[in-house]
Amino acid sequence: MRRVSIFGATGSIGQNTIDLIARDAEAYDVVALSGGQNVAQLAADARRLQADVAVTADETRLPELRAALAGSGVEAAAGRRALLEAASRPADWVMSAIVGAAGLEPGLRALEQGATLALANKESLVTAGALVMSTARKYNARILPVDSEHSAVFQGLVGEDMSGVERIIITASGGAFRDWSLEDMARATPEQASSHPNWNMGQRITIDSASMFNKALEVIETKEFFGCAHDQIEVLVHPESMVHALVGFADGALMAHVGPPDMRHAIGYALHWPKRKALPVERLDLAKIGQLTFREPDSERYPALRLAHEVMAAGGLAGAVFNAAKEQALDGFLSREIGFLQMAEVVEEVLERLLSSQCLKNAEMTLDTVHETDHLARNTAKKVMAERNR
Ligand code: NAD
Ligand code: MG
Repeated sequence: MRRVSIFGATGSIGQNTIDLIARDAEAYDVVALSGGQNVAQLAADARRLQADVAVTADETRLPELRAALAGSGVEAAAGRRALLEAASRPADWVMSAIVGAAGLEPGLRALEQGATLALANKESLVTAGALVMSTARKYNARILPVDSEHSAVFQGLVGEDMSGVERIIITASGGAFRDWSLEDMARATPEQASSHPNWNMGQRITIDSASMFNKALEVIETKEFFGCAHDQIEVLVHPESMVHALVGFADGALMAHVGPPDMRHAIGYALHWPKRKALPVERLDLAKIGQLTFREPDSERYPALRLAHEVMAAGGLAGAVFNAAKEQALDGFLSREIGFLQMAEVVEEVLERLLSSQCLKNAEMTLDTVHETDHLARNTAKKVMAERNR
């Protein structure tokens, strides 16, 4: 039996992971499940999968979780410390599917005990890529990408050598506003930004898809995970979301990964790697689909992509600034403090203010400096938003 843990189990990726595991429950020994507000879901899954422990990030919900787990034999726990303790429990395979920089530390704990980390939490690599990759090396732990584009690239690289890779192309659907005018985008509401044409995902990544901040994070994730140069990474708008990524080789060949927009493919690939097993995803009928389309992203509509390249050029803790400023700007948009297009303006302003600072440039990347930088960037973003609204 494989020991597995799922962090962010109540979210979109977490639920898709549970769907796969529950189909073959006898094969898995579930160690830990974690969630946030949705304690009822967390408890129901922990009971069904007979987890050792269920952790809610929200300490005020511990009594509710305890009540929901009464008599089940599943341990109930709450809060950040309990979450990190659960991530330190020995497991063979750990799904990192908490949203945001909050997912970094549980992922590091899992790597430190040598688990294979299935990484959906792209923010870990954006915020602290060098630290995450060096922790994996130090503890001889493996990271398998779960983001669909990165899983596609990873699959395209099987049996290949990075020295033969010329470029990596990741695709973007264009999100909710791909056919909207800039004027309409300026007035877009959180509700309008929260529906995705192709993928069914958590609210934050759905809005990040509409602004292309998701793709900006993914470009950085590509650089950190595959270790390529930033000018080797390209973004291509592909509204059908069926070609997830392409790897371009020195001999001119392009290897494309084609599949339906269903995260259970990438999750299942990481779950069964290095084998392939049957997965409950749609089989594409290309004759019926007829054609697939591609176009270049419009840099005026999507400044986030340009910002990602500035962040990669700066290196070091710039990714931590970028991700935290983006998370804070997204909170500002959700609370209607700023408009949709202002998210990128706020992030750019934070980068301008913080990336010139010598102490940030010289700082070594440790968990402490990452946390300090994250905190500083969130506060700076709050300040920038307050100044704009004055
Ligand atoms: P989601 O919002 O649906 O779920 C997030 C999960 O994290 C929930 O279980 C929630 O309770 C938990 N959580 C939120 N804040 C927390 C905190 N501060 N501490 C502890 N737990 C917390 O998000 P999602 O769409 O499943 O995305 C999860 C991660 O996977 C993100 O990093 C996202 O970028 C990445 N990802 C998602 C998809 C997708 O299809 N949904 C695709 C690729 C990558
Ligand atoms: Mg993706």
